[in-house]
Amino acid sequence: MTFIDIGANLTHESFKNDLDLVLTNAKLAGVIHIIVTGTDLASSREANNLTKLNPSYLSSTVGFHPHTADNVKESDFKRAIELIELKNVVAIGETGLDYNRNYSSKKAQLKIFEQQLELATQIKLPLFLHQRDAHLDFYPLLTKYRHRIVGGVVHCFTASKKILDSYLDLDMHIGITGWICDERRGQDLQKIAHNIPENRLLIETDSPYLLPRTIRPKPKSRRNEPKFLPEVAKSVSEHSRKTPEEIATITTQNAIALFNLPIKDLIVNNPVD
Ligand SMILES: [Zn+2]
Repeated sequence: MTFIDIGANLTHESFKNDLDLVLTNAKLAGVIHIIVTGTDLASSREANNLTKLNPSYLSSTVGFHPHTADNVKESDFKRAIELIELKNVVAIGETGLDYNRNYSSKKAQLKIFEQQLELATQIKLPLFLHQRDAHLDFYPLLTKYRHRIVGGVVHCFTASKKILDSYLDLDMHIGITGWICDERRGQDLQKIAHNIPENRLLIETDSPYLLPRTIRPKPKSRRNEPKFLPEVAKSVSEHSRKTPEEIATITTQNAIALFNLPIKDLIVNNPVD
């Protein structure tokens, strides 16, 4: 089985000392490509620098996470555009709205999100989107720009069936993390996982966050890593009436297609046939 991790925060300080080993272990687990998430100017630059060491294995995003919105300056956007034009950048983001923690003001979040939507209409890269407790503001903005952007993924989806349907109506992709492996707070997601159409499903670890709680034996460290992505696929399969092989195949194909990833010679059997 092969897997693609569409969201890993590999510029996080917890990976500073052993990133090579983390990547080796990911490869051994069948992870054939990782998209490194950028969350502000510095991490977007750092993420792109990582891809240069291993361009066939790593891609990156460029964007401003809603948590950082208060600190984004106009000049940062100019620099972001320069970064986006670099090789191996496959998406704009992580961007969106987060009213759960409100680390930045709503006003700044809305402004920075809309600026990135606008950017996506010009650059024609898919969006890597984050939405937490902010659907009522997030959805109208996404709808307003949807016909002018190439698409994107609502990453780490954890919301209701109704909200899932509204994103699918906009023909967005849905990213599932280890949240689905959580026997308590993942219950709602487990119930609706089978409603995500095959051609819209993506999987991600969101490393170092969201270590899947189902891993046995329990890892000594609480740090999540791309090597645990198969655990997410396994859980999605259990809750969506598909085999792990089917989940691996369709999510790999979807990631390559949405992000136009530089993966050639991929042998994919289609177990659906
Ligand atoms: Zn996020």
